[in-house]
Amino acid sequence: MATTMLRAGPAFAPPVPAAPQRAAAAAALGTPLLQVDGVSLEYRTRERVVRATHRVSFDMHEADRFVLLGPSGCGKSTLLKAIGGFIRPVEGEIRLDARTVSAPGPDRIVVFQEFDQLPPWKTVHQNVMFPLLASRTLGRKEAAERALHCLDKVGLARFADAHPHQLSGGMKQRVAIARALAMQPRVLLMDEPFAALDALTRRKMQEELLALWDEVRFTLLFVTHSIEEALVVGNRIALLSPHPGRMRAEINSHGFTLDSLGGSAFQAAVQRIHRMLFEEEGVGA
Ligand code: ADP
Ligand code: MG
Repeated sequence: MATTMLRAGPAFAPPVPAAPQRAAAAAALGTPLLQVDGVSLEYRTRERVVRATHRVSFDMHEADRFVLLGPSGCGKSTLLKAIGGFIRPVEGEIRLDARTVSAPGPDRIVVFQEFDQLPPWKTVHQNVMFPLLASRTLGRKEAAERALHCLDKVGLARFADAHPHQLSGGMKQRVAIARALAMQPRVLLMDEPFAALDALTRRKMQEELLALWDEVRFTLLFVTHSIEEALVVGNRIALLSPHPGRMRAEINSHGFTLDSLGGSAFQAAVQRIHRMLFEEEGVGA
């Protein structure tokens, strides 16, 4: 009786640790940083229900470069929106540091494909500072300093006072990356961030992203429909089937870098993934 009361009494409930402590504790226990657990996502319109993903599961760990790879319409963006906290799963659960994701938060920042994600009336510097100020993460002086530091990391400190329309597509994406990194999110979410760039700029951006990761070791969830990009950017790749997205396979890709491009092992991996993505289940079985 006494024991029961002790356990139930609120005065004896364990204190809830602060977020950084919780994250450290979770990491020490080997709990993944992000858990996507049997997640089905749907869009409901007046006429019908569209199932975007069906029972998708994967785990991400600290400093992972995890890639979601699949054809257009397989639900990659929808999954990213759900991890961002903008859409609730109809089935399953998403957990960050062992806590259920139920709303957007500064611990998950998205970089999109579109070049117009930067408000055009703000300078580059103001654009990077804005989320830091809006989320009250930092005061004005500290935000200005951190923003400049992050612009320097992406090679754009010289353009701090420029406006977005004065920049190329690749430079705008660098600003968007600097703005996201400045928030020091638990996970950086990137939705086909280089898809609208020309081939050479795209390759350069992949190279820079990897160099930045080498330096900062952020945790990245990167969405693409390009098999080559997935192999270059990711250390792990989740393959999603065409609509509705289901997990086809998860593969390790840490052996590949930009230097592997065009090599025979790289080409063989591309072919193998292509078959896994597009072959009907059961064919050849
Ligand atoms: P991907 O990013 O892999 O190309 P999406 O996540 O954008 O795919 O879309 C997954 C599926 O959900 C597609 O069939 C798409 O048509 C549908 N879809 C996306 N957004 C909406 C929406 N707002 N309303 C209804 N259906 C949608
Ligand atoms: Mg998409």
